Amino acid sequence: TQIMSRGLPKQKPIEGVKQVIVVASGKGGVGKSTTAVNLALALAANDSSKAIGLLDVDVYGPSVPKMMNLKGNPELSQSNCTFINTYWVMSMGFLVEENEPVVWRGLMVMSAIEKLLRQVDWGQLDYLVVDMPPGTGDVQLSVSQNIPITGAVIVSTPQDVALMDAHKGAEMFRKVHVPVLGLVQNMSVFQCPKCKHKTHIFGADGARKLAQTLGLEVLGDIPLHLNIREASDTGQPIVFSQPESDELTAALTSHAQA
Ligand code: ADP
Repeated sequence: TQIMSRGLPKQKPIEGVKQVIVVASGKGGVGKSTTAVNLALALAANDSSKAIGLLDVDVYGPSVPKMMNLKGNPELSQSNCTFINTYWVMSMGFLVEENEPVVWRGLMVMSAIEKLLRQVDWGQLDYLVVDMPPGTGDVQLSVSQNIPITGAVIVSTPQDVALMDAHKGAEMFRKVHVPVLGLVQNMSVFQCPKCKHKTHIFGADGARKLAQTLGLEVLGDIPLHLNIREASDTGQPIVFSQPESDELTAALTSHAQA
């Protein structure tokens, strides 16, 4: 609150980038990165005339390179992002060794964020999807305060502990005047592939109820599904690798279009 009460610093757009959509969550492990990766790919698949970028600023746990099977050490000061098909991707994960922890204090983290925001040559992008770290810390604040953001998508499971933090996330964006586009409820149901019985492992409608409380839209409702987990682990995001598969891709694509 102290930071907020001092007023917002002047925001500067990222050069060449028209719209920035941040994907955030209160807790880790709820599917934020999965949503960010698939949202970026779905946006691109939805309209091939649009140039899409994906920026992973999850400093301590960058998972985008693994989820997209990307490796490399892009340099930051020239025309330099990693190029995958028609998508531009930049991640903290390209700047550190895969199994090395980022053992940094706040100032170093901020300097890395500054580089990721200002020293990546995106060319011309219609949308930049930003995968935030979980929670409401320094990184989220400084991204929100430094660049104009079109809107935030908040991902949560229907579980109370996740929702509590998602609520805080939504409030943080309100405080820094970033419009919240809506909530994505993830892992809401698991259907047994054999007997077809549906189990709400993390609860049924929690994110829907939170959306109601906050006056927000539910942009998507994603089941807990083996294919999604496998697609992530093999670096072939579900929207990309199984574009024609069943209701599950429909759920992912529908929130991308919302
Ligand atoms: P976060 O970014 O919130 O920490 P991730 O997107 O990294 O979460 O997801 C955590 C783990 O859960 C990953 O291994 C991912 O593959 C898996 N996962 C996410 N959403 C689903 C889902 N709907 N069904 C199955 N696995 C999922």
